[in-house]
Amino acid sequence: MITNNLINDYIDTLIPKRSELLETLEREAKEEKIPIIQLSSIQLIRTLLTAFQPKRILEIGTAIGYSAIWMADAVPTARITTMEIDPERINRALLNFEKAGVRDRVELVQGDAGEGLPAHYRFDCLFLDAAKGQYKNYLDLYLPHLDDGGIIICDNILFRGLVAEDVVDNKRLAPLVHKVKEFNRYMTNHSQLETSIIPIGDGLSFSVRRGSIS
Ligand code: SAH
Ligand code: MG
Repeated sequence: MITNNLINDYIDTLIPKRSELLETLEREAKEEKIPIIQLSSIQLIRTLLTAFQPKRILEIGTAIGYSAIWMADAVPTARITTMEIDPERINRALLNFEKAGVRDRVELVQGDAGEGLPAHYRFDCLFLDAAKGQYKNYLDLYLPHLDDGGIIICDNILFRGLVAEDVVDNKRLAPLVHKVKEFNRYMTNHSQLETSIIPIGDGLSFSVRRGSIS
């Protein structure tokens, strides 16, 4: 937890009750250690989506469909394309989209998000929530699909706070921490993006794609 536990728990008490389906998915994720987004983070995303009203959202990392269902619910007029590589999670996500009644608005692209999408796919919102070490790759791949004024949200960019430590003791995680730090520097200095880092949940970034300057 990157924020004070007490504060985090307090924030969670202020989040309205979810649907039975979403609460079931929260339980399943906890029991099976499926890394779904934290409550305070998805509530912030919901608020941002309510303000920006994107119509075509691209999500990288579906898992069992939890965050996609939240986003579909936040913007009932939006269509969502979501990408997932794990076959078992894909099946469960499809079932959950059915249960949530959003199957007709959500397209699940099955496979490696590192392979990209055909050029005709256009989006006004991009949500990165898959393999942290691949975020730079995903950003380079999908930024060309994003309209000017489009928004980008990335989860887990503070990586349990490890990005702020001078020396990462955990040898196994150190290379990944390094990659996340590189990504954060890259994104916050990107000429086409205006970005803020928000210390909520596991760290969320919010960016807007600037209009091209001619
Ligand atoms: N957004 C989801 C959680 C996603 S967890 C939610 O909050 O409900 C991250 C997911 O990314 C995992 O299910 C993992 O299988 C998937 N993933 C990892 N690497 C991927 C890749 N290269 N392409 C597509 N999906 C990937
Ligand atoms: Mg996440």
